[in-house]
Amino acid sequence: MKTTEQNMRDIQHFGEEGGVVPAVDVGATSTFLNPSDMEKAFRGELAGCYLYSRHANPTVKALGMKLAAMEATEAAIGVASGMSAIHCAILQLLPTGGHIVSSASVYGGTYALFKNILPRMGVTVSFVDMNNAKAVEAAITADTKVLYTETMSNPLLRIADLPALSALAKKRGLKLMVDNTFTPLIVTPAKHGADVVVHSCTKFISGASDLIGGAICGSNDFINALIDINHGMVMLTGPIMDARIAHKLYTRLDHLPVRMGGHSKSAAHLAQALDAEKIPVIYPGLPSHRDHALFEKILNKEYGFGGMMTVDLGTSENALRLAHRLQDEKFGLYAVSLGFSRTLMSCPSISTSSEIPEEEQKAMGLSPGLLRLSIGYLGDDKVMLDRFLRCYREL
Ligand code: PLP
Repeated sequence: MKTTEQNMRDIQHFGEEGGVVPAVDVGATSTFLNPSDMEKAFRGELAGCYLYSRHANPTVKALGMKLAAMEATEAAIGVASGMSAIHCAILQLLPTGGHIVSSASVYGGTYALFKNILPRMGVTVSFVDMNNAKAVEAAITADTKVLYTETMSNPLLRIADLPALSALAKKRGLKLMVDNTFTPLIVTPAKHGADVVVHSCTKFISGASDLIGGAICGSNDFINALIDINHGMVMLTGPIMDARIAHKLYTRLDHLPVRMGGHSKSAAHLAQALDAEKIPVIYPGLPSHRDHALFEKILNKEYGFGGMMTVDLGTSENALRLAHRLQDEKFGLYAVSLGFSRTLMSCPSISTSSEIPEEEQKAMGLSPGLLRLSIGYLGDDKVMLDRFLRCYREL
């Protein structure tokens, strides 16, 4: 069987004069040489025909083919951000009055979208511990349509049991939607039964922290439904990806395997050393991680265990003090986001998870002093470790 990387490499678009990368097609609209074809295109009778770039664009389509190859789905589409990917995909799946069972440990923006925005559209959400199969099953109602989880949760770094969730979804006639932002290439959720996979391309897929983008991967029917001119959430709420961004991401996907390997190598080196020093580090690649065995079962081993880790400093004041020292010592940058070539650090309880009320943070086990680290691959691993240990001991 061909590997994901081989499948991605097989997607090759040439520039107009044979260039090794595709040209960027920036046209907002396409010319109909035969004007009578336009009506047919709007009636959906000309498959694959480009009419207007909010609907479809050749460069965005090329990126979609590479993303679909990466995620082992039939199709994919690029959108303006990870949030628009989640928003459009979930609303496409849900009728008014629909219900979602979501992991309680999700990115704070996702939590706020589910809690504060979706109810305005008649959609309700129950947040549960996705690693507790009984709680997930108990939360399913007659209106439930979707189980929603992150493969590796932000920021707790729990691993979702995708095969078990998919079996449950199938048994109860639900769709399993998975945010794979933390683990592109490392886990292929569709291979474990996910129906829809979303990404914030802003993170590892871009790798350069210089753009905002998102992706939705799924069946041909689902991706076509998203751009349906009468009912498509992408077509009608309008967050299609810009062709220039799609082009950047298309070329960056070629080196994503190398970058993911680099993030994993540096993160594993640091996590193992911190663990040996009895520093409270959480890294899914450590045998002591509560979901390590499950992660080993579902991951594509060649890319390691990923670049995300956390260290619990007890209080947000301690976390900020350490981050400040680490930034001064050029260990990393205190900034939200992840997947950059350099290490990024943030304190989720007062930043990217601050949308989640304090008592819910507590209930899910999110410590106020948790420092989240997205480990970059730049710099010597040993030097970075020395810097971390020095700053930690000086606290
Ligand atoms: N999903 C996860 C797991 C995230 O961490 C984020 C942002 O941090 C998003 C989605 C949203 O992505 P974006 O900022 O591209 O809208």
